[in-house]
Amino acid sequence: MGVSGRVLVLGGTGEARRLAAALVADGVDVASSLAGRVTAPVLPAGEVRVGGFGGVDGLAAWLDARAVRAVVDATHPFAATMTASAAAATGAVGIPLLRLHRPGWVAQADDDWRWVDGLGEAADAVQGFGSVFLTTGRQGLGAFAGLTAHCLVRSVDPPSPPLPARTTIVLARGPFTVADELELLRRHAVEVVVTKDSGGAMTAAKLTAARELGLPVVLVRRPPLPPGVPTVATVDEALAWVHDAVGPRRA
Ligand code: NAP
Repeated sequence: MGVSGRVLVLGGTGEARRLAAALVADGVDVASSLAGRVTAPVLPAGEVRVGGFGGVDGLAAWLDARAVRAVVDATHPFAATMTASAAAATGAVGIPLLRLHRPGWVAQADDDWRWVDGLGEAADAVQGFGSVFLTTGRQGLGAFAGLTAHCLVRSVDPPSPPLPARTTIVLARGPFTVADELELLRRHAVEVVVTKDSGGAMTAAKLTAARELGLPVVLVRRPPLPPGVPTVATVDEALAWVHDAVGPRRA
């Protein structure tokens, strides 16, 4: 038998899509939510809604109106506002929340990784380099606008100004292979790579490529998680949690 009761997955990540697919396959009534930042997003299985909820109150009202019984926050590790809203709104409505948070990347012995606490610090950390690969995503690139280095920017949709004066834009969506990344780094004579500590396999090839070329990598540390929210690292753990929260797995 399938389980009744709606589960909301806050998405925008590969993990969220995999979780939604597994829940649909198990007969769970699931809705996925996307922010609507990307023009042509890869859609999860099952019902999908797109766009902000209107802050904590808007999300709480949505959860209440849809009789949502459990929420999995599977947003990107840097989607801190949505993660905080999910904690506050589920607390207000009195339903369980799980954070699905993929592990951050771990340096290997010879890696030259330079940790910073935000995009502004990342911009400071690349002063003096002649060619910089900015893979921090389309949002927040204004922090690098003052750079005089050549900047290679890769994003899914075109970034908006302000951008560094000498910018080359590459529009692409992961996953990327190490061979792709080596070719890109060599072609643009990249001297330093800037990335968020997004974690996961989809975009890790740039770290391997930087390692092979002996390039330094500036990594932006993750924002902290809201306290008191149970957290898992994998889709399988999240799936088990949902079944515990809303009912048995379909026979
Ligand atoms: P954010 O700063 O935490 O969220 C800003 C606002 O966008 C939220 O307050 C919410 O609006 C809306 N929002 C965010 N995620 C949403 C979702 N899944 N469903 C409905 N509304 C959502 O988020 P962000 O960093 O802009 O990320 C936006 C989306 O892109 C997320 O879904 C995230 O998983 C994905 N993403 C982010 C990054 C990144 O580097 N930040 C990278 C890859 C993918 P209201 O307050 O109106 O509800």
